[in-house]
Parts: sequence; C-alpha cells; structure tokens
Amino acid sequence: MQITQSQALFEKAKQYIPGGVNSPVRAFRAVGGSPIFIKSAKGPYLYDEDGNQYLECINSWGPMILGHAHELIEKAVSDAIQNSFSFGAPTRKEVEMAELIISMVPSVEKVRMVNSGTEATMSAIRVARGYTGRDKIIKFEGCYHGHGDSFLIAAGSGAVTMGVPDSPGVTKGVANDTLTAPFNDLAALTNLVEANKGEVAALILEPVVGNMGCVLPNEGYLQAIRDLCTKEGIVLIFDEVMTGFRLAKGGAQERFGIVPDMTTMGKIIGGGMPVGAYGGKREIMDCVSPAGPVYQAGTLSGNPIAMSAGLAMLRYLDSHPEVYTRLETVGTTITNGFKASLQQLGLNYTINQIGSMFTLFMTDQPVTDFNSAKTSDLALFGRYFQAMLKRGIYLAPSQFESLFFSYALEDQHVQQLIEANEEALKEVL
Ligand SMILES: *Cc1c(COP(=O)(O)O)cnc(C)c1O
Repeated sequence: MQITQSQALFEKAKQYIPGGVNSPVRAFRAVGGSPIFIKSAKGPYLYDEDGNQYLECINSWGPMILGHAHELIEKAVSDAIQNSFSFGAPTRKEVEMAELIISMVPSVEKVRMVNSGTEATMSAIRVARGYTGRDKIIKFEGCYHGHGDSFLIAAGSGAVTMGVPDSPGVTKGVANDTLTAPFNDLAALTNLVEANKGEVAALILEPVVGNMGCVLPNEGYLQAIRDLCTKEGIVLIFDEVMTGFRLAKGGAQERFGIVPDMTTMGKIIGGGMPVGAYGGKREIMDCVSPAGPVYQAGTLSGNPIAMSAGLAMLRYLDSHPEVYTRLETVGTTITNGFKASLQQLGLNYTINQIGSMFTLFMTDQPVTDFNSAKTSDLALFGRYFQAMLKRGIYLAPSQFESLFFSYALEDQHVQQLIEANEEALKEVL
C-alpha cells in the first residue's frame, strides 16, 4: 500500500495548519505513522489520495450511519442549493426539523439548532445554569462533551471535588465550577452531590460512553442518576451527540427508558453537515433567548443546506426501523467473530459493544470507566491499528474511541472485518 500523496499532503499541511489537521485525533499521534488523506467515499468504502480503498468503521465519527453519499441525502442537498446557501432568517425546514426531532426524541419538547456538538453542550449548560441559578456542573472522567472550557477538565489525584484543567487556557475559575466523578460509581457521585448540595446546576453525561472507548452504564445506573437529579433539583443532560439516532431512533434514552431533562445532539443529526442541537423540557428551553433571558445565537444556525441533509437523514431513520435491526445484527456478528478469534489465539481482551458502537480494548480487565480503559496496552493497539490499515480497514486511530458501523456494511464486509482482525492480531502479538 502506497501512501505517498497522503504523506506529501501531511508534510505541507504541517506548515500551514497546527499539527497538520483541523481536529487533533486525525493526526494519528496515538497510533503512529502518517494520516491518510481522504479523497472520496461511497457506501462502506473510503478512498484516499493514493487511490487506496478502505472499509469504513468510523463513518466520520458517526454521522454517516447509512454509509457514504447516500442518494437521498445527496438529492436533498443538491435540491436545496438551488435556493441559495444561507439567509440568516427563519425557514420552513427549521420548523420541520424541530417537529421531527421532537417526535423521535419525546423528552425534547422544544429544540434549538446550532452548528456542532460542542456548541450544543456549551449552550445546554448555560441554559441549565440560567434555569437553576446555580453555577456548578458535574461531568464524568473520560466523558467528552466537545471542547468548551467547562468540559476540558479531568480529575487529578485528590481532585475529587475540584476540577483541574486538562488544557492550558482554561481558567481556574471555570475549572472550579466543573466537578468530576468516575463513571459507573454511584457512591462517588452521591458523595459529590452531597458535598455540593444546592450548588449543582447540571449533571452531563454520555449515557453510553463513546469517548473512552465504548463503555456501557451498569444495570440500573442511569435510573439511579435520574432519581438523584430529580431529588436534588439538578438538570440531567444526556449528551447524545454520539448515541442519538444511533442506539435507537430515539437514542440511548429510548433504549434504556430514561427521560433526561435536556438532550444534546450532533453528528448523525446533520447527515454529514455541521449541525448540532439542544433541547429538553419546555419550561427549561423557554429560558432561551428570545423567549427568555439566556442568550444563545448563531449566524448560520439552522442553515438550509445543513437542515436539508439532516432532515433527509432523520426522515430515513424514522421511517426505516430495519436500519436499527440490521445494525444490531452487524454489531453482534462482529463481536462474536472477534471473540472467536481472540479465544482461538488464547487472548482475553475485552470487547464492549452495544448496537453499532464497538471497542476492542487491549486489556484483560473489564472496562467500566476511564481508569479501567487506561489499563489497555496502547503500544499494542497502535501496532494493531496499523496492521488493520494495511489490510484496508479504517479504524478509529485511538484506543479510547468507539467504532461506528454503518448500514452500508453487507455480510461480506462483516466477514472481511472479522478475518482482517484475526490476521492483524496474529501479526502484532
Ligand atoms: C463528538 C462529540 C461532541 C462534540 O461534537 P463536535 O461536533 O465535535 O463539536 C460532544 N459530545 C459527544 C458525546 C461527542 O461524541
């Protein structure tokens, strides 16, 4: 496999773009080597600048749940561009989009469109703070909610109740208002809430975590969180930027039967265009300007081209329940196939999977939170990633990411993936 064009582009990119990329994980730093520059994609395949073909297991980090360049979405976008690209004024499509989101995700009674998942989460906590009149928020270690200052916090040792910034440029003031707890540890969370009684505006979490690798909530954990938030008057925010429209048409909240107060969305909702949204209970959302005093705005929010792509995507998902049945089958078949290979090779690595979200962790430990995810052998993962890439399989270039399978994967692709995995494991061990 030749990647000379990609390498040349990356060398040039590094002169003009920080680290050569517009989002850090794309630089392949966690796995070594030079990133692949993509030229086009169709269905389950990516094509790079050197003409290599790859089987897609990331799908733009989620949005391309139907596979690439789905004809209905292409048509919606090409129809929309006939009418100009942006107006900065209300449009019919925004109303249709809001109505559809609310019908698919019933906990959302009103919704505001934004341009990314980051914007959705930043706005949601502002609204929760405005609504409750409280300052602090709680997030979980290893959960990613975009790059807003308040979320770039990890708990260092001893920092159970006081956040420590994860990035320079995040002020101590902001960090002090972000409390962190380990995922799946109800006692730690309860203690944290108790120690900050009456001060916590919102608790935000990925109901199924994708950003420490795929990590599922323990049985009853989400309900216990719901109960705690209700009791303490804390706004419960499900960050479904990843899980929304993926784990079910109504997201993780539908799958687990939990009703959050607010929901943040992104990725799939734009069908590949830059879109995010946040919504929730009417009473809370009516705090948002101009209905209420909490300010949030956007020149390109609800952009007609983006709305067209997103609407086409959501309409398809809403009217084709077989997408989700198929994604369950794909996810479990890959899991069973990988498990069989692991067993045959005498390996005891952990696979976490739910529907079309999947992570093979290079560790014998069960992975239930960020600390257990970190027991993975990252050097081994890097070699495995390269061995898969060499076999034409495009995985997420980090151990701490979930894969996202698409509806475009046919049985033959699933088998190809299982075989490549077995060969790659044999090569790198
Ligand atoms: C990707 C992601 C975000 C951030 O969305 P962007 O569109 O990248 O800003 C927020 N929360 C979760 C759970 C995500 O996976």
